[in-house]
Amino acid sequence: MWKAYFLKIETHKYTDPKEKVLVSFDKGGLNIGSLKAFNFALVFKWWWRFLKNPNDLWARVVKSIHGHNFHSNHSSSSVWASIVSVCSNITIKKLLPTDCFRMLIGDDRRIRFWHDLWVGNEPLSHHFNRILHLDSTPNAYISDKWVDGNWLFTWVRDYLGGRNEDLINSLFGIIGKPVLCDRPDSWTCSLNNDGRYTVKKARELIDHLLLSTSQVKTIWYLFMSRKVNIFLWRFRLDSLPVRWNLSAKGINVSSIVCPSCNNGVEYRDHLFFECDVARDLWHKIRIWLDCDMPQMSSWDSFFTWLEDIRLRQLSKDRIIAVVVTSLWALWRFRNGVVFLDSFCNKSSLFDFIRLITFRWIKHRGHLVSNWNSWLSMPL
Ligand SMILES: [Zn+2]
Repeated sequence: MWKAYFLKIETHKYTDPKEKVLVSFDKGGLNIGSLKAFNFALVFKWWWRFLKNPNDLWARVVKSIHGHNFHSNHSSSSVWASIVSVCSNITIKKLLPTDCFRMLIGDDRRIRFWHDLWVGNEPLSHHFNRILHLDSTPNAYISDKWVDGNWLFTWVRDYLGGRNEDLINSLFGIIGKPVLCDRPDSWTCSLNNDGRYTVKKARELIDHLLLSTSQVKTIWYLFMSRKVNIFLWRFRLDSLPVRWNLSAKGINVSSIVCPSCNNGVEYRDHLFFECDVARDLWHKIRIWLDCDMPQMSSWDSFFTWLEDIRLRQLSKDRIIAVVVTSLWALWRFRNGVVFLDSFCNKSSLFDFIRLITFRWIKHRGHLVSNWNSWLSMPL
């Protein structure tokens, strides 16, 4: 798997609908992350480790074989050459910023401005060789050139010419303001606020660029179980395998009639809102909750009503828990009918929802505590 990804970095967006689950909650997925980004982030960490631990035995072995510069030209087909190649490609494709590793310039005066790597991914002498030859102090340390909050250069000529001026402007754009500290020189990573490189953060950033976005932002309730949250995600995307959806995908189903009522096509909104079983259930729930909840016709209309209504947050969370559990229970009931499970008792559906919701939100969110008051006055 690693070797395959070494060969090619593609920056096109995924189009496979199964990839939806990989995307973050913000982008409408289940926040799983792609293996591809995980691999890239792990490989990229070698660059960070190479910079942070220059005196480790492995780093000294690498340097003795491949040179002191991480981005030295590697003609060999060694593992290290592959790592460097992947890191270069990651920055070339802009999956991670080129200058995410910056040196914190300390007080030990061992960084030479032009020849040591302290900003970007190569020493400045490589890209600005033309300017280097105009500098009267080409071997100066950074601390010699950064004086009283300004960069100080002494050029060998008074007039540098138009192209050189452009290069110098470009140089100032790259070097910016150096990060100075009282400690010995060290490296910092701009991907995280604490200056450390983490695979988690790098993976998030890469996935952000590689994975496609859904229009529907994921809703995830911590007081509900994972399986119910995943069910809700599929419900909102209309990706549950109801008979109409299966048929629309070209799957040969024996019937598209609703198995719960045998009266109407089984598409999502029928099963959860229009079906006799659903209508009966929502009617009982509205009476029980006693909060002027409108007739359930869609998730969006319910959610809009909930946002507008004046209730304390605890009550709103309880309503959400009941509604989400009811949707899940309707799906469970339907599967019981289709697959002839023992659980397909319509009359016990309402009581089951009250019981299971109480258990979940009591133990997960501590939203309720007393069973009797839950039954009589749930909000
Ligand atoms: Zn029905």
